[in-house]
Amino acid sequence: MSDVTKVDRNIENAAPGLRAVYPDFMAEARQNGLCVGGFEIRRSKERQNFLKATGQSGVDGDNPRAFHVRGLAVDVVFIDYESNWTWAAPQQDWDKLHEIAAKYGLDPGGKTFKHEQCHFQLEEA
Ligand SMILES: [Zn+2]
Repeated sequence: MSDVTKVDRNIENAAPGLRAVYPDFMAEARQNGLCVGGFEIRRSKERQNFLKATGQSGVDGDNPRAFHVRGLAVDVVFIDYESNWTWAAPQQDWDKLHEIAAKYGLDPGGKTFKHEQCHFQLEEA
């Protein structure tokens, strides 16, 4: 039985399309002075269902919009001076991150999840 609270940050587990653009996306963000990292990448259906059930996500594991389950989404989060994950970055930093992501075909916040600034997904055929 998988641990539904466990966060998978391994880009190797993402779909090939995301794996292909992720390193350059992260590198360009850091070159622009944004201290960021991949907070969560792939999710099991079970974890997605857990997040839906606990109100942390709007979609369940079988929803085609569950991009993390399909390996096509990454949550990119800032890292503070004490090496802690932080979502409390200035809006201009989030805006810059979104601008860079768009260059790699990553949809900032997604079309469904506009409130989630940290969420980036690859819209694929
Ligand atoms: Zn996400």
